[in-house]
Amino acid sequence: MLQDLLSQGASPDEISVKLGIPVSLVNRALAPEVGEWVEESSLKSLLNALPSGVVVIDTRNGLLKLANHAALKFLDVGVCYSPMSIRNLFERACGGCRDSVQAAYSSVLEKPGKIVVLDRVNVHDAHGSGRILWLHLQQCSHSACVIMTIRDMTEMWHVRDELDAARHLFAQFSEAVPSSIYLFNLDNGSNIYANPATERILGYTAEEIRAMGAKFLPTVIHEDDHETAIAHQQRIAELPHGESAEIQYRVIHRDGGVRWISGRDTVFERDHNGNATKILGVCEDITEKRMQEEQLERYVLEAHEAQIELEESKYLLEQFNEELNLKNSLLAELTITDALTSIPNRRGFEANLLRWFNRALEGSLTFGLVVIDVDHFKRFNDDFGHKKGDEVLQGVARVLKQRIRGKDFVARYGGEEFVCLFAVRDEKELMLAAEGVRTAIELENWPDRPVTISLGAAMHSTGISEQALFEKADGALYEAKSAGRNQVKLTNGKAAA
Ligand code: GH3
Ligand code: MG
Ligand code: MG
Repeated sequence: MLQDLLSQGASPDEISVKLGIPVSLVNRALAPEVGEWVEESSLKSLLNALPSGVVVIDTRNGLLKLANHAALKFLDVGVCYSPMSIRNLFERACGGCRDSVQAAYSSVLEKPGKIVVLDRVNVHDAHGSGRILWLHLQQCSHSACVIMTIRDMTEMWHVRDELDAARHLFAQFSEAVPSSIYLFNLDNGSNIYANPATERILGYTAEEIRAMGAKFLPTVIHEDDHETAIAHQQRIAELPHGESAEIQYRVIHRDGGVRWISGRDTVFERDHNGNATKILGVCEDITEKRMQEEQLERYVLEAHEAQIELEESKYLLEQFNEELNLKNSLLAELTITDALTSIPNRRGFEANLLRWFNRALEGSLTFGLVVIDVDHFKRFNDDFGHKKGDEVLQGVARVLKQRIRGKDFVARYGGEEFVCLFAVRDEKELMLAAEGVRTAIELENWPDRPVTISLGAAMHSTGISEQALFEKADGALYEAKSAGRNQVKLTNGKAAA
């Protein structure tokens, strides 16, 4: 047919009208390459090979003049019978969309050259699976036909729908999470995304944050943490793919309050050179936690200081106790020491006598007691005065102390009376010891007048009481006095040998 038309000298427009295909296709078919000729059958093949669907409708009768393979495939129509209207075509494909297509067709008919685009037409096949088509209808200005171009946008719409669903999910997720999520543009230093949690933490809306541009970082981050934040960004930019880095810093809330933030950032986008351009971050407000930690630190410090104070007090107490013990032992020493003569007093004697008794009871000791009394001491006091008398008592104590052996014991019993304990085996040794003491006093070079003493001695014996022993020695002393003084008497009237 094309051959016939060509041989009749028909123009491309006439061919286009006769064959019902666009003039551009006719032109391409007529002069593809210099010296090449396209057959009519080749033109049909060409149309059928097109990825887009093409349908040509005769405006005079509303019937299809042509529908290529792609159009029939998109509409899932196996065979295009004649005569068939555009309405019939879409009815077969999809009852629901025929009205919109028919309306578009009617609209295009209003004016030559008018274009109507339907960007989302759903068609369903017999199996229920569907396609989403893009339709472009245009009335040819030079011929009585409408050319409808069809593209299968199913894939694109699916991808777009999935993308929308993913966006929706992300929006829901990003709104629901308590953590702040943000996207930071390294190129211009602005924050380009902030979720509601970010708005809560900072007190600015996402819009206000975006509007801050490069002022975002200096406005929001505490000035003492600017350097840390910048160093952190540099560290992120150098991170290997997929890795993240953590940071803690302070932000200034819109109300002026300081909040502590703990964040984890990673590279979100890189340029073609691999340089990071955007940072994706998640962070949370750790102000409460931080305050609790600081409080805890303060408690620990206070507890530590209290412990140090306690130890110091303990040390002071120990020192005080040591001093007290020392003073107590001094006091104890004082209570058993005679102030005038510095030898043990009566209390010291009695405590010692008890010990000697116990040792004797154990069998580890034999001993005797000697009671001493200065002779005519009242007279001495009367003649030389009390002070001189005291000096005599000191002298007697000194001589007694010098005279006795280390294992023996001497004490001032009271007034001008002294007592001695001698670790001796028997009365003979006891008398020797007592006599030695007496002689020593007698031979001492006294400054004012010779001083003598009388002594009563008694040997300790099994079963005797302390009091009885003392009374025996005291009795002997009385005998010594009676016998003329300056002598030793052993109990039961025995005199020194
Ligand atoms: P006798 O030979 O019988 O023991 O005669 P005496 O004078 O020593 O005995 P008496 O009991 O009559 O007198 C004891 C005196 O000792 C009386 C008292 O003034 C004196 N005297 C007692 N204690 C002290 C003292 O601490 N210092 C001085 N200077 N005299 C004392
Ligand atoms: Mg006396
Ligand atoms: Mg006396």
